[in-house]
Amino acid sequence: MPNPRDEFTRRTKSDLALRSSYLCCLCKCSTVGPSDEAPNAVAMIGVAAHIAAAAAGPGARRYDPKMANSERSHIDNGIWLCATCSILIDRDDKRFTVEYLHNLKIEHEASRRIHGNGGTDSEDIIAIGPDLIALGSVIKSEPAGPRVRISHFLQGNIRELWSLARDFKKWPIERRYVLLNELGSGGLLAEAPSIERTNQGYEVQLSLQDDIPRRDASKLKSHCVDTLKIIEGLSASIQNFESILGMARGTWFTDLNLGSDISDLYWRYFGSPWFKDLVMMEIIRLSSVPSISRISSELTTPMACVNRVNRIEVPSFNLANHRIAINVDFELEGIGNWQGALSVFISNPEELNEGRAIATKARKQIEPTQHRNVVAVEAEVSHEKIRNIFMGKT
Ligand SMILES: [Zn+2]
Repeated sequence: MPNPRDEFTRRTKSDLALRSSYLCCLCKCSTVGPSDEAPNAVAMIGVAAHIAAAAAGPGARRYDPKMANSERSHIDNGIWLCATCSILIDRDDKRFTVEYLHNLKIEHEASRRIHGNGGTDSEDIIAIGPDLIALGSVIKSEPAGPRVRISHFLQGNIRELWSLARDFKKWPIERRYVLLNELGSGGLLAEAPSIERTNQGYEVQLSLQDDIPRRDASKLKSHCVDTLKIIEGLSASIQNFESILGMARGTWFTDLNLGSDISDLYWRYFGSPWFKDLVMMEIIRLSSVPSISRISSELTTPMACVNRVNRIEVPSFNLANHRIAINVDFELEGIGNWQGALSVFISNPEELNEGRAIATKARKQIEPTQHRNVVAVEAEVSHEKIRNIFMGKT
């Protein structure tokens, strides 16, 4: 006897369609419109597709025998797609994994949220420190700092944001930053964010410190790691970006905060549409947030010649020689807009664990002398002094 299919109810199909604004979650095309057959006729090409197949059998993709029938027909297992895309996801379950489709649906539905201001805003990632990551939009960009509207949190919650605002001075300095994908930039918070509850969500007024001094990309000079010849300008900058992005955070014993989270993001968000947004957020962090633990009179960020991250594209998750191609569009100090592909080394999870264990051990051996000094410095200097150090006025 063939397996019965765990179909969605009419109500579930209609809810999926409405929640995605009748747009295909994958290709974003409209799935409903007028038909010329009659004045009131409607043409519909949308499908409430199953993420995990409705029944076992040949051709069933992502079928999970452990799921209950009620779970298979639950709205959580559905995604609104156009007819073409609904076929596509059932021809390739390597690319269209359960996780990928769930993320696609969440991201699409979030982008269709109504804000009561005459349409949907384009929402983007707003990070406040390392633990609060939200979707929202910039509603005003003022010289003192942008005002943003947060619609919902991807990581953390509104209580944590209130507590950050209340106990701002108690927060470690290295956590007091914001990253705004919509603006392609970020910076250090000058004071506590002020939060206001409105009927459209939460509005947060951010106050940012002046920009960290920039470095002219056209004047950068270094040795090519392959040929050892001197390279300059853009070539030197590209090599610099690739080495910063390819070095996993926590694997460099002289400063465990150095490096990027790209490898971790790669394994955590493999196949997900979130990956490129989070890579963009990470590149903004490396461009605009200085590494605080290395307090010196010359404060700088790892990618100090990137003024703005305009766009990030990740054409494929395939690795060639452990490297992923990331297409970037940067505004560079001294050069202007530059588009190109960066080849970024991805460490595998075992290498990450091993590298971090070795670095932490090495760090402990030098800690009795160095670490205590850093802690003492952080405890003694006031916020004002830190600010002066940032501004180079020591
Ligand atoms: Zn489609």
